[in-house]
Amino acid sequence: MTARRPIHGQGGVVTRFAPSPTGRLHLGHAFSAIRAHDHAVERGGRFLLRIEDIDGTRSRPEHVDTILADLAWLGLTWEGPVFQSQRLPLYQSALDRLKADRLVYPCFCTRAEIAASTTAPHGPSPAYPGTCRHLTPAQVAARIGEPHCWRLDLPAAMAVAGPLDWHDEHAGRIVADPAPQGDVVLARKDAPASYHLAVTIDDAAQGVTDVVRGIDLFDATHIHRLLQALLGLPTPAYHHHALLVGTDGERLAKRHGAPTLAAMRADGADGPALAASLRAGRLPSGFSAANA
Ligand code: GLU
Repeated sequence: MTARRPIHGQGGVVTRFAPSPTGRLHLGHAFSAIRAHDHAVERGGRFLLRIEDIDGTRSRPEHVDTILADLAWLGLTWEGPVFQSQRLPLYQSALDRLKADRLVYPCFCTRAEIAASTTAPHGPSPAYPGTCRHLTPAQVAARIGEPHCWRLDLPAAMAVAGPLDWHDEHAGRIVADPAPQGDVVLARKDAPASYHLAVTIDDAAQGVTDVVRGIDLFDATHIHRLLQALLGLPTPAYHHHALLVGTDGERLAKRHGAPTLAAMRADGADGPALAASLRAGRLPSGFSAANA
């Protein structure tokens, strides 16, 4: 199934910034938010803010307040926010549909069991080996009271969906290749959704026409495209932008000690001036933009 370029309705272009309130925003987030904001504003469109807080153990309300203050400090305006934690019934009904279509299965494996069954001394963690996909209905019935997540049955899903593609602003037509990611989790043990399911549903439900986000999420788009096909949802255009990195080439995740926007704000830095520099491609010393 070939993805058509989205037809923009009366609202025109709609973009979004979708941070997870699990920590403070850094310069890389500012770069991404500005890219998404400007993409909409330059086209007379709408820029939405969505708080991706389905991870109840790591999300913190105080981070939401800081995110709002950071974005306002940069001079951005937005619609929203919507909170994913308030949209769980929406994700539940999509999950129910996938259950009815037999495209998901419950997985009872613990992290330790998965780690023991996959060997990857180096590189990215390997895909889940599909252990619970092979459980019989009787085995599932016997264990359904135990903690479990729900995984996409990727071979079945790909067979149902057939060939798929999507359009990336920079890379052009991309043939969807979700296979390397294996049977991804679509519902967590503690919530009827995962990042992949919630983001796909919300982008469609909010009428997002253009997903502007970092290239680190490029591979996730293969899964999102598959979910769109399974759930009958439209496919937005994608703009995966380069990431800001430090002089050591490391991404600006908090764990690398990147300065947070909140810290810059507290130091009296000029938010709109910082935003103007990022727009002009002038990065603060010690940073550069790189493809992941
Ligand atoms: N919530 C995700 C994050 O903070 C971003 C989701 C997206 O842009 O698709 O990394």
